[in-house]
Amino acid sequence: MQEKLKKSRQLYSEAEKVIPGGVNSPVRAFKSVGSTPVFIKRGQGALIEDVDGNTYLDYVGSWGPLVLGHRHPKVMEALHQCLEQGTSFGAPTELETELARIIVDALPAMDMVRLVNSGTEATMSAIRLARGYTGRDKIVKFEGCYHGHADFLLIKAGSGALTLGVPTSPGVPQSTAEHTITVPFNHLDILRKVFEETGQEIAAVIVEPVPGNMGVVPPLPGYLKGLRALTREYGAVLIIDEVMTGFRSAYGGAQVLFDIEPDLTCLGKIIGGGLPVGAYGGKREIMSQVAPSGPVYQAGTLSGNPLAVTAGIATLKILQEEGVYEELETKSAQLEKGLREAAGAAGLNLIFKRVGSMLCTFFTSDDVYDFETATRSNTEQYAHFFKLMLDKGVYLAPSQYEAAFMSLAHTKEHIERTIEAAYHSFAEVAR
Ligand code: PLP
Repeated sequence: MQEKLKKSRQLYSEAEKVIPGGVNSPVRAFKSVGSTPVFIKRGQGALIEDVDGNTYLDYVGSWGPLVLGHRHPKVMEALHQCLEQGTSFGAPTELETELARIIVDALPAMDMVRLVNSGTEATMSAIRLARGYTGRDKIVKFEGCYHGHADFLLIKAGSGALTLGVPTSPGVPQSTAEHTITVPFNHLDILRKVFEETGQEIAAVIVEPVPGNMGVVPPLPGYLKGLRALTREYGAVLIIDEVMTGFRSAYGGAQVLFDIEPDLTCLGKIIGGGLPVGAYGGKREIMSQVAPSGPVYQAGTLSGNPLAVTAGIATLKILQEEGVYEELETKSAQLEKGLREAAGAAGLNLIFKRVGSMLCTFFTSDDVYDFETATRSNTEQYAHFFKLMLDKGVYLAPSQYEAAFMSLAHTKEHIERTIEAAYHSFAEVAR
């Protein structure tokens, strides 16, 4: 392994000298699997190649955006054409309206959308808007859900669900944490209690409809509908964060799959086709509060960047094709079934959770339905499994608490190869 990744190791030590931790986003450092990162040179379809010339079947897909795989020819062609016109104008382009129209048409609860540059910007702006619209300050989030790194979202629960929040990072003021209430996902009774006590102060509830940042944790039947009913009853804005699930769980997103009508939706990842993008949108009444049509300020030098928008349009047009989501489902189900059988053959009793093309293998035999149950996983076993799979040419997320993403570029043969690698790796882990 050492020799195989020689150049990656060298590049990492160079990177560490000038970039904190050697990476531009923490999870890339492989810390939670006790390793150091593989440096990637190029991608094609479902495959990525590292700087040492090793190739891997990629189940990270740039953390979700690459639902078509790497360098889809139609996306590449559109990008080349766009590049000929220039890279950024800081003035409106027709492309922005085209992408906005595609998004709005896909989401029944969305009348208007504002493009930004990342998922973090989308959630941060949606919360400012919800606060401006309601005139309230408090927000509710769920333990284990990730919405980017804005101060007021880097908060965990205090010692009881109704006590003050605690910052999860130095630099986040306690006074900021005081406005964020964190409750466990999938427990409607606890949320109801929070609303009964402070409902009139709550501006918004923000939720990942299928949390994918504590592994994959599907919502229990009726949970999202219950959330919708409670927020409506108390006049709080329901923000569905579909940065990961948008155009992945279904065309549109998980809100289409589960038939939920949020007030605001956050998007990112897939709608930028692998380039930096984010978006927030929703009902006209709320969105018209955004500057310049309303008083809630939000702006961006590169927002609606022509290249990102072009990659997004090309990607979403492919996702409109007949049978695309069925294909993703078939492939993902094939992988899940194979992994289950491979774990079973090794005598490992593991929990598999999957919603469409997001899949997670939890190294625990107890059911997983919230953050607490997710963290019962044996992360050392996951790390061992991860390293074995990497050595066999399968690039999984370098953390137990992430999803594996299927793409349309993965073939039946790729999936069989992955399952074959898993048979050997699970057996080794069980030894
Ligand atoms: N929301 C969710 C559900 C996410 O998964 C992420 C990132 O993984 C974000 C927000 C933040 O997006 P970004 O990393 O583009 O800022």
